Amino acid sequence: MAPVSPTVPEVETFRRIVVKIGSSLVVDGEGIRTAWLDALAADLAGLRDGRDLLVVSSGAIALGRGVLSMRAGPLKLEESQAAAAAGQVALAGAWAETLARHGLTAGQVLLTLGDTEERRRYLNARSTIGTLLRLGAVPVINENDTVATSEIRYGDNDRLAARVATMVGADLLVLLSDVDGLYTAPPKADPAARHLPLVERVTPAIEAMAGAAGSDLSRGGMLTKVEAARIATAAGTTMVIASGHELHPLRRIAEGARCTWFTADTSPTRARKTWISGHVETRGALTVDAGAVGALRRGKSLLPAGVRDVSGRFERGDAVAILGPDGDEIGRGLVAYDAADATRIAGCNSRQIETILGFAGRAEMIHRDDMALRGE
Ligand code: GLU
Repeated sequence: MAPVSPTVPEVETFRRIVVKIGSSLVVDGEGIRTAWLDALAADLAGLRDGRDLLVVSSGAIALGRGVLSMRAGPLKLEESQAAAAAGQVALAGAWAETLARHGLTAGQVLLTLGDTEERRRYLNARSTIGTLLRLGAVPVINENDTVATSEIRYGDNDRLAARVATMVGADLLVLLSDVDGLYTAPPKADPAARHLPLVERVTPAIEAMAGAAGSDLSRGGMLTKVEAARIATAAGTTMVIASGHELHPLRRIAEGARCTWFTADTSPTRARKTWISGHVETRGALTVDAGAVGALRRGKSLLPAGVRDVSGRFERGDAVAILGPDGDEIGRGLVAYDAADATRIAGCNSRQIETILGFAGRAEMIHRDDMALRGE
């Protein structure tokens, strides 16, 4: 393998990778680009060992136009929703089949804006995707375009992919499209534009290089990619923009193909803990016993059994303070139950949750990943 420049990261060093694929790579006038998709699946299979892989695939609308023999040109909202409905079936089928040829199992996940932006739904989406990963599947994610209307949709999969990456604590997000990275100015308009191999911080100057907001070229173009970089790197996820033109685009990045890396100066875990401990207002508190304090300090989740008292009015997904037996705040976390349910299961064994509440909830009151202890 060709050596890469010492300043840019290497794909192999990452453990949880989200790969976003633009429509034009996966679909053309004839339908699915099967040879390309097959080569990408081979790359994914090559990276599989010891890594979690997730795909965010566009292409439902582009594919659906063909499936439904729709005319060329701009579509009305309901037409693109219908196109997505027909196209998503075919798209997911192509992914499932292609990944299976390379020994990988696909799990389709369709998200709307609320699934990543509302805390309650966020916990659900994250836990489903986390379970798919634990079971060894490759989540194949797209926006749920058939129900998402303009006010409640991302509209572009660059930012959706960035939200997914931060939601699952991915350490790398790869944006594959028809551009090979960020230039100092839009390269088609400015012959003096220089390619940037590495961006260490998404500054206003970097954002300006992506082109003006609102232009036709910026939608799903460089502007949303730089915005994705801002979201990803702030949450500790490194991002790379690379061209998917050639076959085996992931292998090509590893071999040093031209691309732009956006590095994060923190890890996903650290960024999340900083966010939980510093930037959220708490809605209530859980007082835990001494045994639970010890378990939390050893890196365990907070189970209902260790909770002595519940106070405040909070919903599932809200931030609450974790208080030790003497009332001192020992940390904060996002709670998996609302105040009423938390009160009912406090002090109980997790196995009793279903009997007490009448539904099978999470075994943890606050999952380890959703917690930041003082001094951590
Ligand atoms: N979700 C859209 C689709 O699958 C694509 C959005 C995008 O290209 O960024 O057709």
